[in-house]
Amino acid sequence: MLSLDLTGKRAFVAGVGDNKGYGWGIVRALVQAGAAVRVGTWPPVLNIFIKSMERGKFDLSLPGGGEIEFEKIHPLDAAFDTPADVPEDIREDKRYRDLSGYTVQEVADSLRDELGEGCLDILVHTLANAPEVQKRLIDTSRAGYLAAVSASAYSMVSMVQRFGPLMKARGSVVSLTYLAGERVVPGYGGGMSSAKAALENDTRTLAFEAGRRWGIRVNTISAGPLASRAAKAIGTIDRMVEYYRTNAALAGVNTAEDVGNAAAFLCSPLGRAVTGETLHVDMGYHAMGMPVEDQLQGD
Ligand code: NAD
Repeated sequence: MLSLDLTGKRAFVAGVGDNKGYGWGIVRALVQAGAAVRVGTWPPVLNIFIKSMERGKFDLSLPGGGEIEFEKIHPLDAAFDTPADVPEDIREDKRYRDLSGYTVQEVADSLRDELGEGCLDILVHTLANAPEVQKRLIDTSRAGYLAAVSASAYSMVSMVQRFGPLMKARGSVVSLTYLAGERVVPGYGGGMSSAKAALENDTRTLAFEAGRRWGIRVNTISAGPLASRAAKAIGTIDRMVEYYRTNAALAGVNTAEDVGNAAAFLCSPLGRAVTGETLHVDMGYHAMGMPVEDQLQGD
């Protein structure tokens, strides 16, 4: 029987801070398939994430038995490549000042020191941030735009650059993108649409460059809307979910589990010939050219 088996593989999932987002769905699927998982968690949410885990606030159980366990939770701020990039006000911020080693380079170094080269099979980038996400692109400041692209797109380049040398040949990198990188989605502002367009383009270029350099694959999943903590910041997420439910090719909305399963496939040997791809996991919404009208629904 064909099986999706990640036994003996290790994954680093960057951007898990609660159990509501796509990162959690991806972690669940990877653990279910047998992978050992480490997560990278943004310092501002690290404490609450650890406390929520300790207090049993998250359902860790897996279908078919077993529980989600993390090999380690690393503090990670993917907007900073090295300690020299961290500005004074962030370094002194109360959520950062007791932490160390949270830049991309330092996290990669800590994996190398602890586990050695070739310690990683899977790298997942499921993070985004845009300080001006509620502003239209046309009203976004230069600083807001660059911050969105830095945290949400360049962070992926930085992670592949720094984690790539730790990955085994045939390893797999997956990120999360959204349709607003290809089409106009009103309300997805602050430069986030530009960041997703960059992320998708970089997926193709990195697939070639990291493929030739380390023999690893790079793909991105374009997911439908999910009422995660980040998505709630946009302010229209519940309406977007309902809009998709009505207008997607398959009536309904995708879940975090659907995205997790697609990520597990991309990270598994079953996906060995798939790279440079933007895989839509959105019930086919991206394929539609007009909203479903009442009179068409009967078809
Ligand atoms: P989420 O809130 O669960 O995940 C976003 C994570 O990014 C959070 O854990 C946050 O702490 C982390 N983060 C923010 N800035 C960071 C930084 N500088 N360094 C490290 N971590 C940082 O929300 P989500 O919606 O599941 O988002 C995960 C990914 O899925 C994002 O790339 C998002 O754009 C993408 N996505 C989301 C939707 C949706 O509707 N929710 C749709 C398509 C794609």
